Amino acid sequence: MPRKKLIAANWKMYKTPDQAREYFRDFLPLVKNHERDEIVVCPTYLCIDAAVKATQSSSVAVGAQDVHWEKEGAFTGEINAAMLVAVGTTHVIIGHSERRQHFGETDDTVNLKLKSSLEAGLTPIVCVGEVLEEREAGLTDDVLRRQCLRAFHAISAKKAAKLVVAYEPVWAIGTGKTATPQMAADAHAIIRGEAAKAFGQEFADSLRILYGGSVKPENAIALMSEEEIDGALVGGASLDPKSFTAIVKY
Ligand code: PEP
Repeated sequence: MPRKKLIAANWKMYKTPDQAREYFRDFLPLVKNHERDEIVVCPTYLCIDAAVKATQSSSVAVGAQDVHWEKEGAFTGEINAAMLVAVGTTHVIIGHSERRQHFGETDDTVNLKLKSSLEAGLTPIVCVGEVLEEREAGLTDDVLRRQCLRAFHAISAKKAAKLVVAYEPVWAIGTGKTATPQMAADAHAIIRGEAAKAFGQEFADSLRILYGGSVKPENAIALMSEEEIDGALVGGASLDPKSFTAIVKY
């Protein structure tokens, strides 16, 4: 069965609820009837309600950019998976490199977040990827293996059914530098191999692995034509409805 591509927008810390509504007013007519790919937009927590309402009669789904793993408790500023589901979120990004770099995200917290998101019925998009020094030192494969091994720890194939992974080389995020389709395909093969070890070959064959890192309308077709690449996680270029549409319709 061919894997249906998933094109996800990561808005990071951009847009107010009014700006989100305005975005969907422009974006939704542009992708109406686009059924080839699954489309997900991940705004800030504050824009989720506006995004869910704006997209309710469309096929565009809404995701969050992070989640806390506990069910509830004294965790000031945090949001849990059940809360995300309650407001209509269906997807969640976990372990984005900006959270790893600036907010102390570790492979272990990624694992905890993955478990709680799966339990709540969310589709998690787990981000993995090497920094430039690791690539230059020839450590990319080791880093990807370690990140996947720890992220997938103690999760059954049955529970992991909705898992999506995004390969995001950190040196390509927001920098204008993009991995070549071949580099991405090689990294995806490593990730798929780890998924096979953790969950079995059949699971790995159907696992969607997205590429993220300066995806733009100009490079989308080359990346998306690669058989190993099952979609994209798009930051900067997803903020403008026309440029995100051009990527969706590569
Ligand atoms: C991202 O935020 O996941 C990302 C890939 O950003 P950009 O497309 O801006 O590189």
